[in-house]
Amino acid sequence: MDVIEQILPEVQRPARYAGGEWNSVRKDWDGVDIKVAFAFPDAYEVGMSHLGLQILYWIVNGRPDALMERVFAPWPDMEEEMRSRGLPLFSLESRRPVRDFDILAFTLQYEMSFSNILNMLDLAGIPLMAEQRDEKFPLVIAGGPCAFNPEPLAGFIDLFVIGEGEEVINEFLDAFLEAKRRGLSRQGLLFEALKVPGVYVPSLYRVHYGEDGSVLKVAPAVEGVPERVTKRVVRDLNGAPFPLRPVVPFTEIVHDRAMVEVMRGCTRGCRFCQAGVLYRPVREKKCETVLEQAAGLVRNTGYGEISLTSLSTSDYTPVRRAVKALVDEYARQGVNVSLPSLRADNFSVELAKEVQRVRRSSLTFAPEAGTQRLRNVINKGVTGEDLLKTVSAAFREGWQAVKLYFMIGLPTETDEDLDGIAGLAGEVLALGRQAGVPAGRLRVTVSVSSFVPKAHTPFQWEPQAPLPALKQKQAYLSGKLKGRGLAFNYHDAGLSFIEAAFARGDRRLGAVLVNAFKLGCKFDGWSEHFSLSRWLEAFRRAGLNPEQYANRRYGYAEPLPWDHIDSGVSKEYLILEHRRAMAGLTTLDCRAGSCTGCGLCPALAAEPVYAEA
Ligand code: SF4
Repeated sequence: MDVIEQILPEVQRPARYAGGEWNSVRKDWDGVDIKVAFAFPDAYEVGMSHLGLQILYWIVNGRPDALMERVFAPWPDMEEEMRSRGLPLFSLESRRPVRDFDILAFTLQYEMSFSNILNMLDLAGIPLMAEQRDEKFPLVIAGGPCAFNPEPLAGFIDLFVIGEGEEVINEFLDAFLEAKRRGLSRQGLLFEALKVPGVYVPSLYRVHYGEDGSVLKVAPAVEGVPERVTKRVVRDLNGAPFPLRPVVPFTEIVHDRAMVEVMRGCTRGCRFCQAGVLYRPVREKKCETVLEQAAGLVRNTGYGEISLTSLSTSDYTPVRRAVKALVDEYARQGVNVSLPSLRADNFSVELAKEVQRVRRSSLTFAPEAGTQRLRNVINKGVTGEDLLKTVSAAFREGWQAVKLYFMIGLPTETDEDLDGIAGLAGEVLALGRQAGVPAGRLRVTVSVSSFVPKAHTPFQWEPQAPLPALKQKQAYLSGKLKGRGLAFNYHDAGLSFIEAAFARGDRRLGAVLVNAFKLGCKFDGWSEHFSLSRWLEAFRRAGLNPEQYANRRYGYAEPLPWDHIDSGVSKEYLILEHRRAMAGLTTLDCRAGSCTGCGLCPALAAEPVYAEA
């Protein structure tokens, strides 16, 4: 029995580390030229719910010359066992140390998982800093949404991939193999990788600071390095590789269902939303592709639920046709269809009725703000009337529970907007009563998160409300959202504060991360592990102030630490959108055919792709 087998009975959820799941791929180690460990810097249940992991796993393991294995952040109980026995971080498939792989690839979904990256490197026996690693260590690469402001991680990562990975991963692996064949050094390999568009090598750039310590620019330090790195987009999702045999975990995970991505991108243009910018332009899959992929998934996984995923699935042009066909085909087998994101309009209730022919759960809507004025500021094109009409229809159709998502601390917010949240919740409750939902069953849950200014959005210049103000807003709402049938929950404001500092952080925050790691920060996205005092101490030791990053208004003319990363959407457009927000003006989405001039299509030589209804 190996050490891992001995440890597993001692820890919570051994299935997190056991491997051997249905559809997992175990390749002959010596039979391939290149070995990649895909690292998700959070728990297994979170990582295995991530479609991007399944897509890349499918692509790399589909190559005869390569293999990809998975590794997740071990939960603290497992980490303790591993450290006490000197067991290094290992992959699930072959249980080899990740140090033995050629490439260690992290996905960056959330700023609050950065501390786990350092902890995983340490546990793997890999030096934290890129400059300390030589040929015998794997190349540490990273991609995902947080790579659009890569600077806080610049010191730890050898190379970032900006944008969508489906095509770039193959190009990068080919470049890597070529470098290996030519016997290039680590440095030579980085230069070879630079030839692949979308690759950013932070060590080849230098940060220029002004006298007051502000970032002046991030510029190439070596000749031949591009000034700006432009994101990659996959033009045709119909032809893009899609995992028809995803790994099916043995243990329950966050999204425990078959996921079919129906489209990528969103045209709505909510001004706080980073995903809306990063995944532009919208690309819809043909309905036929969706149905074929769903059939493959049902056949190969045994899942009892198909989820049609995207940022805003009710916008998918053939959504009605796809849902009807799937329900007709699979309802008899007891396979449910679900739509994770619905908009507050009548169409959504119709759709929800259709998808929930099999099982009826609660309905979720995200009005985001309590008043129309503020919804216009953030460009959330949904009205209070829409929401109330929709909810009322939902109650009449037999739903008994509704969840409402809001954000507090949005730019220009006042108490009136907070009162609006409480008011809307009260009205929704009243509608439930009117529709005859039994008092014991009627439930309205209000979830509130704090606004975090994100890079590449129209609100990237806006300050986050100071921490005491966020806490006060939460307390104010919690005083108002009381009563039978109402539930109120909110995210830890301290966590959003540190998230905001990193979301707009520069390269100096690397020192904060090292301090945080030394102070024991890990799993910071989990409230039970997050410690604000430890993070404040980490900033203090680095001589930096998180408020400078989170709570400051940035100027339009001020260079931003992520200016050298190009999302395709122009800065002029973001400024225009910010100005329109402050004037309370809304902007239509470009789905209706009226381009609003965000600049992406000409810059990336791409265009929106819509499917037939
Ligand atoms: S350039 Fe125009 S059509 Fe293209 S994504 Fe931007 S707004 Fe839409």
